[in-house]
Amino acid sequence: MTSRKNNTIGITVLGAGLAGTEAVYQLIRRQIPVRLVEMRPKQNTGAHTTDQFAELVCSNSVGSNLPDRASGLLKEELRLLGSYFMDVAYKYRVPAGNALAVDRGAFSREITRYLRGHTLVDFVNDEATEIPDDDGLVIVATGPLTSPALLQSIQKKLGVAQLEFFDAIAPLVATDSINKDITFKADRYGEGEKGDYINCPMNKDQYLAFVDALLKAERIDLSKLEKAERKKFFSACQPVEIIAESGIDSLRFGPMKPVGLVDPATGQRPYAAVQLRQDNLLASLYNLVGFQTNLKHTEQKRVFSMIPGLEKAEFVRLGQMHRNSYINSPKLLTQTLQLKKDSRIFFAGQLCGVEGYTESAATGLVAGMNAVRIIQGKEPMVFPPQTMIGSLLNYITYDGHKDFHPMNANFGIFTGEVGLKGDLRKEQIIRQARRQFREFCDAL
Ligand SMILES: Cc1cc2nc3c(=O)[nH]c(=O)nc-3n(C[C@H](O)[C@H](O)[C@H](O)COP(=O)(O)OP(=O)(O)OC[C@H]3O[C@@H](n4cnc5c(N)ncnc54)[C@H](O)[C@@H]3O)c2cc1C
Repeated sequence: MTSRKNNTIGITVLGAGLAGTEAVYQLIRRQIPVRLVEMRPKQNTGAHTTDQFAELVCSNSVGSNLPDRASGLLKEELRLLGSYFMDVAYKYRVPAGNALAVDRGAFSREITRYLRGHTLVDFVNDEATEIPDDDGLVIVATGPLTSPALLQSIQKKLGVAQLEFFDAIAPLVATDSINKDITFKADRYGEGEKGDYINCPMNKDQYLAFVDALLKAERIDLSKLEKAERKKFFSACQPVEIIAESGIDSLRFGPMKPVGLVDPATGQRPYAAVQLRQDNLLASLYNLVGFQTNLKHTEQKRVFSMIPGLEKAEFVRLGQMHRNSYINSPKLLTQTLQLKKDSRIFFAGQLCGVEGYTESAATGLVAGMNAVRIIQGKEPMVFPPQTMIGSLLNYITYDGHKDFHPMNANFGIFTGEVGLKGDLRKEQIIRQARRQFREFCDAL
């Protein structure tokens, strides 16, 4: 790992993904020079396809934008803290109903251009094979696809077995290859003003034939994996064929649910529907929402071409399976994201046990801001657990989980008695979170 600038830099960030780039931004905006180490394109991860920083490897949606959703609340807190990820995401927003979706190319290009060219960033394009062992601070943000050499060295250093699970990517189709005579634009229940989603409606016969083909299609062989590892599929990102296995109607009640949709051709609700979401600003690409898959590539083309409207679709990217790694944060990390046994080392991003683009950026922001505070001779911040960021940090460092899995922002992880149920509970959590967050920021 060689550097083109000097040795006076006191902080190194490993990985220029969502967490790493946010952490770097938090440092340089406070005039602190930083070394950033990224291995792509010299070495790839198997899921990333570009040489750009902050690449969104799967969906181009970064979650709900509604203020009364957990993901919306997380975004609100991030914006108040001056998150770079949020600024760039809003700048390159594409229509997606109530979700915040971005033009992934423009998003990554902007972050790469700004950080690579910044005078305070010493960029090293190399694989880090170990955590630097000098006196400086380090933020490890190499993500769920951390290179095997670095993983091995982390494992050696931490002395705790690394955890692993598997996840899946959804296919992308070219917009001009979608049959507009069959599909229709609409959001569920008319949400969103223009109808941002393209819907592929199915009748009962089409649906049954599709599910049958999906279940019979050849998959990539996972038999070499231990059963326990296979069980570690993250349920929020389950492959579509695995959802189909759980019952003939599972897809109709899951990613293919037709509720809130009316097919203009029949004037009726379709039996099932596949939704396609815009993937770039040019609207030249759409992704199949919820269609992460582990089918063999030839099988994906055959089976997904059975979807009405996609008979002649050009699949510009196919679904894939990937390894995801994360450390045992409840045993290893403090709520400031520092290693308990070596406080100069931070972990951020999916590697520290959060799940999702926004959550990864959020932990990058926390690690970056806390590194700044240490350099300035201040105590690192501990977020109140009543805030969205605080509840996430609280969750991943709580040493009482039976089985620790990465977690995304949701209201279920808020602790403390709020005394109410359902929507009232949610409203109270949000009110409390906003108040606590304001007070926390005022005291900084
Ligand atoms: C296949 C897949 C699909 C996913 N889909 C979604 C999704 O649709 N929506 C969602 O919200 N989340 C998704 N996630 C989860 C997660 O939010 C993303 O992976 C997110 O990018 C994680 O951010 P990160 O910063 O931790 O890691 P990354 O964004 O992956 O960044 C890590 C960076 O570190 C680099 N790196 C790795 N090892 C080394 C090394 N040894 N030396 C130097 N550099 C290194 C990598 O090249 C990469 O650039 C998905 C994850 C995977 C694996």
